[in-house]
Amino acid sequence: MLALLGLSGTAQQPQPGAGIKAYVSTSAPVIALTNVRVIDGTGQPARERQTLIMRDGMIEDVGDSTRVMPPAGAEVLDLAGRSVLPGLVMVHEHFYYPTGPGVYGQLGESFTRLYLAGGVTTLRTGGNLNGYMDINLKRAIEAGDKAGPAIDATAPYVNGRNQFQQMNTVTTAEDARQHVAYWAGQGATSFKAYMQISRAALGATIEEAHNRGLKVTGHLCSVTYREAADLGIDNLEHGFLAATDFVSDKQPDTCPGQALGQQSLAALDENGAAFKALVQKLIDKRVALTSTLTVFETFTPGRPMPPGLDVLAPSLKQQFEQAHARVSQNTTSNYVKLFPKAMALERAFVRAGGTLIAGTDPTGSGGVVPGYANQRQIELLVEAGFPPLEAIRIGTLNGATYLGRDKSVGSIGPGKQADLVVVGGDPSTTISDIRKVEIVFRRGVGFDPAKLVASVAGRVGLF
Ligand SMILES: [Zn+2]
Repeated sequence: MLALLGLSGTAQQPQPGAGIKAYVSTSAPVIALTNVRVIDGTGQPARERQTLIMRDGMIEDVGDSTRVMPPAGAEVLDLAGRSVLPGLVMVHEHFYYPTGPGVYGQLGESFTRLYLAGGVTTLRTGGNLNGYMDINLKRAIEAGDKAGPAIDATAPYVNGRNQFQQMNTVTTAEDARQHVAYWAGQGATSFKAYMQISRAALGATIEEAHNRGLKVTGHLCSVTYREAADLGIDNLEHGFLAATDFVSDKQPDTCPGQALGQQSLAALDENGAAFKALVQKLIDKRVALTSTLTVFETFTPGRPMPPGLDVLAPSLKQQFEQAHARVSQNTTSNYVKLFPKAMALERAFVRAGGTLIAGTDPTGSGGVVPGYANQRQIELLVEAGFPPLEAIRIGTLNGATYLGRDKSVGSIGPGKQADLVVVGGDPSTTISDIRKVEIVFRRGVGFDPAKLVASVAGRVGLF
């Protein structure tokens, strides 16, 4: 290590602090990855036998091993048989989890480590139920005090009258303006509207957020996708599965119930005029759609157990296993039709030119485990019919572009931040290889996923 001092100038990233040292596998100022397959996140074909040079947290160069040579003094990692991808950029993440009836435990401390271990280097939280945790963790990670991804921190949900004990009630446009002003002032960098919001409150939320250069997404129900697009919303969550546009007697500003909306969707023809008109509206208004197939998979009978359950505290693991058993027995569930339909609708949206981004939504009945689920989400996009390179792009560059961070993250190239995932094998042909994470680089610091996971294993649910 000492021999490398002085190689870098004043721009050098801070060396890992005490809070993250335990998880770091390499933090040399100059690192060369050699003999590696590069999947650059843009959707371009994988390139074999590449060398990638990181210096002071940035990618200095990447190219054929015959052209790019490791600089003198660099730490060289021979990665034959492995692939390097951009760190995942995922946009429907949370720092809370269902821990008991009607109660969501605040688990940002363990979740941020699990996300990083899973290869997520940038995330947006998609609504929060804790007030300050998302914002405080964002700052602590940015300062290098904690291990985790870069965070786009949402404010607490913007919602109308609702049943959640941990949620604010925003009924008027004026309430919405105050909510946005307060949380933007506290450091929130995005907003999420929820199922009972009124059009007036949503419109005011969007206006106030946009005045501050911030974006708004929504998991809607009371407001249709078409109405939200016309109000200027930036993003809609859960693919089309939260759309109530096709409920026949839908009353304005009223949620007819998620189940009713989903029944109308299960019967929807993705090649029909009604759906195509909505898709065109979203494209015309530049509304991005977030795929969260992971959470819907846990509601669908006949699907495998989700990955990562072993890190949960035993009581939470047991709680989910019971939920999974109940789901498995309910073979007449609407999700039997709805889950493949969700995939077909997302595919049709992209084929028509829509922007799809990805997230996991670790809520539901508790089986969506951060980090593991992000890998699973990419696998499910492939199952939905996207080629692996396109699925990877949806989970990397598309997310970064939506967040306005694509100049620095979401793809691999000279001048980009060194946020990278090294995996065994070749996910461009075998997507499940995306689970074989060996090193995760954040701003050029290499983290050991096994150490991150070990620091929380069996206790996820407590902190
Ligand atoms: Zn969510």
